Amino acid sequence: MQLVRQKDEIRPKRVAARIRRSVGAALVVAALGSACAGPSADGEGTAGAPAAGQKGPARPDAGRQRPEGAAAALDSYVEKVRELRAARVVAARKWGLERPPLEAPAPPAVKPKITTRKGFETDGEGLPPVFTTVPTKQKVVFLTIDDGAEKDPELVRMMSELRIPYSAFLSDYLVKEDYGYFKKMQDAGVSLHNHTLNHRYLPGLSYSAQKREICGMQDVIEKRYGKRPPLFRPPYGNYNEDTLRAAASCGVKAVPLWASEAFPDRMEWREWDRDLHPGDIVLTHFRGKEDWKGSMPDMIRRVMKTITAKGYAVAKLEDYV
Ligand SMILES: [Zn+2]
Repeated sequence: MQLVRQKDEIRPKRVAARIRRSVGAALVVAALGSACAGPSADGEGTAGAPAAGQKGPARPDAGRQRPEGAAAALDSYVEKVRELRAARVVAARKWGLERPPLEAPAPPAVKPKITTRKGFETDGEGLPPVFTTVPTKQKVVFLTIDDGAEKDPELVRMMSELRIPYSAFLSDYLVKEDYGYFKKMQDAGVSLHNHTLNHRYLPGLSYSAQKREICGMQDVIEKRYGKRPPLFRPPYGNYNEDTLRAAASCGVKAVPLWASEAFPDRMEWREWDRDLHPGDIVLTHFRGKEDWKGSMPDMIRRVMKTITAKGYAVAKLEDYV
């Protein structure tokens, strides 16, 4: 009897404490939610959050369980967000970034309509759009890495730990040295796209030769990586109407070029203002110390310094295009 009475006495206090904890956690969630761009950007659900808004228990016995469940869910959610953020800070320190990368906002529910950049048109109608910037007002840019010469395992680790998305545009004459390297990249969530079989200057080729270069690479990527890529980037950014017709004939939906290019020691800019803009596509290459002044991680440190300092986050190109 004594024990039961004690339990009865203390239960309301415990429930009240749980509710306070739950409300407190909800406030923390709200604070975290507004400080970061939203957990969905990381693919993390907000499962815990809606429970905070639930009304009190309908069943008499629910008073004991609901607040506890809600509080636990919120606690674990808040804990998860904190852990992710802490992991990002730790990863930034580990990989020598001056500041942790900014978290990308949730991508748009509907992808923006992309049209060919003015001055980049061909006469052909209904061809895949050629563009250098994705139409968006969000402060995001997209990182794209071309060719495939340097196969540095550090790059895959670094980008995974820092949670920086990027897309690879691959050329088979380099990739075939080690298809496995890019498979690991794909397994880490990177989309692999088409940069032709042999990296030729396409406008110098006939339509059928261009088609072999482009559609041959579609086949290679499908065979090796299980998916025909929707995106294609012509070598050197050079193309003509035949290029776009050939690309369209084997499933290419869009032709992203770039607004700026990253090197281990500098940025190069397409626009006169030498700056980043919302939606800009940043080009860089799989290269090593024999090709340029640094390693792949050196290059990433340099480009992320610029991107973060200017207040941009790196978003996933495939979420927008
Ligand atoms: Zn290239």
